[in-house]
Formats: sequence, C-alpha cells, structure tokens
Amino acid sequence: MLEKTFAEAKTVKIVATLGPSCREREAILELTRAGADIFRVNLSHSSEDEVNAMVANVRAVEKIVGRPLAILADLAGPKIRIGQTIDGARLSAGDEVEILTRSGERSAYSLSLNFSSVLKNLKPGNGIYLGDGTIHLAVERKLAHGVLTRVISGGHLRSQMGFAAEGLTLKKFALSSKDLQDVALVTSLKVDAIAVSFVQTPRDIEAVRRLLPQNNRPLLIAKIETVPGVNNADKILKIADGLMVARGDLGLSMPIAELPHIQKKLIALGLRNAKPVITATQMLESMIAHPMPTRAEVTDVANAILDGTDAVMLSGETAVGKFPAEAVAMMTKIIASTTPHVVPRFFDNEASIADAVSSSTVAIANQTGAKLVIVFTESGTTARRISRHRNPQPIVALSPNPQTIRQLSFSWGVSAQQISSTKDFDDLVGSAQRIARKNPVRPLNHGEVFVVSAGVPFGKVGSTNLALVERA
Ligand code: PEP
Repeated sequence: MLEKTFAEAKTVKIVATLGPSCREREAILELTRAGADIFRVNLSHSSEDEVNAMVANVRAVEKIVGRPLAILADLAGPKIRIGQTIDGARLSAGDEVEILTRSGERSAYSLSLNFSSVLKNLKPGNGIYLGDGTIHLAVERKLAHGVLTRVISGGHLRSQMGFAAEGLTLKKFALSSKDLQDVALVTSLKVDAIAVSFVQTPRDIEAVRRLLPQNNRPLLIAKIETVPGVNNADKILKIADGLMVARGDLGLSMPIAELPHIQKKLIALGLRNAKPVITATQMLESMIAHPMPTRAEVTDVANAILDGTDAVMLSGETAVGKFPAEAVAMMTKIIASTTPHVVPRFFDNEASIADAVSSSTVAIANQTGAKLVIVFTESGTTARRISRHRNPQPIVALSPNPQTIRQLSFSWGVSAQQISSTKDFDDLVGSAQRIARKNPVRPLNHGEVFVVSAGVPFGKVGSTNLALVERA
C-alpha cells in the first residue's frame, strides 16, 4: 500500500546525508516521511559494516513507504586531509603549527597530510583552510620536511579534517585503494548512484565507469569542487550522468564570492544536457544546532530552486545535526512555496528525434491544458528530457526497470512507478489510462487531458518517438 506523503507531489528532490543522527531505520523513516528522496552514504566517514547497515535500512524503509528511495554513495576521492591529531584540541590565533610530510608524535601543533606531496607547492603567505574553513592558517616559511604556519583564526581540531590551500590543485586524479574497495562494495550493494569527488576532467569519470558493470550500472554524479572541474564541467557532463555543485570544497578552492554565479552556470549546464544537478552544502547549516534556519538559508534554498536545480542536499544538518527531520521538512516547505515561481525552460539544442518529441510533448501539454504527463521510459532518459523543461504538469514515469525507477528520484518533477513490460499499443493506452486515474501525484477526473510519451518499438533505450493525447 502506497503511503500518501508530502513528498510525492514535490518537484525538487531532497538528498539527506546519513550519519550518527539518522542512520537507524526509524530515523530514516522519519526523514522519508518529511520528504527525503535520496540518501547519501558518505564513504569518507563510514566503515564497511556501517555502509551495509545504512543501505539495508534505506531499502527496508522503501518497502514500508512504498515509494522509490535512491541511495547515493559518495566516494572519498583524492581529498586532502590532515592525519590523526588530538581531537577537540583548540588552535588559537597566533599559534604556530607545523605541517609535515611525515607523521611524528601526535600533537595539535604538528600535523600531517594524506597527500603530503602538495606541501612543496606552498609558498609563504598562502592561506590554508581546515574543515569547512573554520580554521584559517597562513604559511610562514618552508621547513626541511613541510611548512611552518601561523593560525589566523582558530577553532577545534578533528582527525581527518579536510585541508585546502589557495591555488592548490592535485596534479592527477587518482582513485585510492580505499576508493577502489568502496566502488566494489557499493556496486555489489546495487546503489543507485555514485558521487565522484574532486573530478577535474572527463577522464576522472571514465576511471570510475571502467570499474562498473555495462548494464544497470549506478549513475555517476560528478562533484564539481575544484577550479579545473568548473573549467571542464561541459566536457565532464558529456560523460557523467549528473553534477553536484559541491559548494563546500569549491568555496575553499576559489574566492568564495565566485560561488553564486558558478552555481547558476552549473545548474544551467545540467538543464541543457537533461542531466540532474544537486546543489549541496550548508543549505540549512544553522539547523545543525537550531530548530529554525536563518532567513538567508531559506532564501539560498529557494534561489537554487529558482536557478532550476533538480535536488537540494543536506549534509551535517541530517548526518550529525540535532534536528534532521525538521531540516528535511523545512526544505519540503521551501520547495512547495517556491515551485510555482519556477520559470519553464526552452532549449535550442534539440538535436535528436527523442529531444524533438520530448519538447513537443511539453508544448502539446501546455496547449491542451493537460494536467499530467505520463512517460514510458526504459533508462529514464525520456523522463529527464521532459523534466528539463520545468513545466508545471507533474510527470509520472513508468518503467519495468526498478533501477530506472529509483534513479529518477534525482530528476525534477518526476514521480516514477514500476510496471510490467509494455506488450503493444493497446497495452500502453490501457496502462496510461489506469495510471492517469490512479496515481499519487495528480489522479485525473473523468475527461481531463493528459499526454503520453513513449518509444516504439517498446523496450529499446533512446527510442522516444511518440506523443499521444488522451482523456481520462
Ligand atoms: C562539498 O564539498 O560541498 C561536498 C558535498 O563534499 P563533501 O561533503 O564530501 O566534502
């Protein structure tokens, strides 16, 4: 039995990061009922047992609520991190801290790095940021085995904190042995998508794709969080299945004031390519500690929606925050109030028959006053092509492939249901009529118009060539 929740009529999808505050079944159920569609497993901070348990819990909750839930496994990637330190020790402005190529005695004033070779690129005056930038250091001078820095603004240390320095790029993207093990683990668990961290070129996505099965593979979401990643985003998205605007690391690798226009550019790129975009990090940051967000945070979420993002993401808010369900519910409210103000999009890059039929479906829906668009889709591509128009009619996608159903959790305005394979045209019309009258998003009344999009012959990926107008 399908649960009727707020989330089913939602346009923008919500990604909730799992962590100590929400990884048990009850908590995941609560987040789902508040509107979460996708659960992110952060592989930087999870053991194999924890990953197994989180995936099992999400799949169990999916059965309870009866609507698809997707799992996004986020690879650690070549993120530069400090090593073990004195957790909780406080660095204060003016303190001297050395960062060394080899780990010595554990001390708050002597740190090490996992990719220590980057230290030789640092020059006196370079700024260094730890965590999300809470601790700011400046390089004083080079040492024989590292650099000496001074604390500009202090904070509490944590082992494995992220490390970023002005102007620093990794020479080469390399999957660590942990990443390779993680890809094998999450592929065996049949997660729906893998987020590839610190992508700099299309080759970085290809490196992960080579490790995956040919068919029914997870979507690959390129996390754009470096300057080369931004510069190559166009080419990266030709290979990747979607993007994440990873504002946390992006804001440390370039002047933070550049973020707003880069976010808009990346979302527009996703729309143009009909590939989903997730806007991430610090969206409702103050809700880690408080039940209500700031006005600026609410406006930030709404602005990402107006930019056209497919999904908005919660990180610390759900993973370690005090109010995970309240944060998801707040996003659901912002989505509901902002959706009517999202402007429909039109595109001039309709190169294929599938693109032309998809945009005609949208035009027909508008001209006939249709209340619903129903899409028969094998791989989900047709549904994504229709979704990119950000049109007001809800889109119900029907597919025999359970992975397609879950993967459409990433796409704006799409609610997906599994059906058995369509045999012939009469079968298609019969299923469409049944779903039009009985669906959780917009059940139609007798006589209301809906538009159907499909590909004939049935069951072939990328064959969209049919737009059909029906009355319920
Ligand atoms: C980010 O940097 O914004 C991000 C989402 O990456 P992570 O949370 O893995 O650091």
